[in-house]
Amino acid sequence: MKTETGMKVGFIGLGQMGHAMAANLLAAGHELTVWNRSADKAADLVKAGARLAASPVEAAQGEVVMTMLADDAAVEAVVYGENGILGAPALHVSHSTIGVPLVERLTQDQAAGFVAAPVFGRPPAAQAGKLFVVAAGAAEAVDGCAPLFEAIGQRTFRVGTTPSAASVVKLGGNFMIMAAVEAMAEAMTLAEAGGVERRAMLDVLTGTIFNAPVYSLYGELLVEDRFRPAGFAAPLGLKDMNLVDAAATASRVPMPVLGVVRDHLRATIANHGPDVDWAGIALSVRQAAGRT
Ligand code: NAP
Repeated sequence: MKTETGMKVGFIGLGQMGHAMAANLLAAGHELTVWNRSADKAADLVKAGARLAASPVEAAQGEVVMTMLADDAAVEAVVYGENGILGAPALHVSHSTIGVPLVERLTQDQAAGFVAAPVFGRPPAAQAGKLFVVAAGAAEAVDGCAPLFEAIGQRTFRVGTTPSAASVVKLGGNFMIMAAVEAMAEAMTLAEAGGVERRAMLDVLTGTIFNAPVYSLYGELLVEDRFRPAGFAAPLGLKDMNLVDAAATASRVPMPVLGVVRDHLRATIANHGPDVDWAGIALSVRQAAGRT
């Protein structure tokens, strides 16, 4: 599958995550064609050697086309819409966080093959090529993507040959991030009410048994009130919690904590606007305690 100059790959969706991933693919020597709804976001990639496609299907004429789009509606537009990639020859590798039913539909419909490969890691990790890739799909298709995953990530986890498995893992992981942020925000608010600074609380947590990236990374955002510019915007987080709810409903799995974090996301967006980071649920936790 590999050519002398790397793989012939298309990349669709040059938002905060996708732009950084595409830049790393280019830097790794792959022959890159890009498409984005707003073409201006491709300008520097084109300067660096990428080709700009005039439509999604034009970006899907190589071996692989990777997509990193906002949500289900965006992926549907790019696959099934006008000049979409549905019948294109490239294997579709989907990195967006999307719902299980859409992943199942794409698995059925994408004749050239479909791999679900959602990622963990925020924009700085994407820029550093340090994402974690969770891949599921036909074994030989996932094997063939190894050079691409190496360019964007620090490690690839394979969770089977059914693409929806990767979607379930990613959605479950995002729910756990929100639950960790919620718990940490509640504990920090309690500490502050008791006269302990957030920084001191975080130092104790991460220096003892909460020594994990999710606590140190999000703990810093909470301590420093760094909710803008959003690394992951709250409306996208709400989109994910709604997808978790749909999956939980379909599988009859009660998830009571999900209701709490989802309501805090709604309140945070209503009170602080759609451009706030999803870790901004801490603001709603504090507000509920009469603290701003
Ligand atoms: P983003 O910066 O908002 O970028 C969204 C991308 O989707 C842009 O390229 C946008 O095009 C495109 N798009 C939106 N609606 C579209 C439509 N109807 N048709 C065509 N293109 C459309 O989002 P992001 O933070 O990069 O996130 C992208 C995906 O990665 C999401 O599924 C998110 O849940 C997931 N994710 C994000 C993070 C994170 O920390 N940010 C981490 C892991 C996974 P325009 O430029 O034209 O608007």
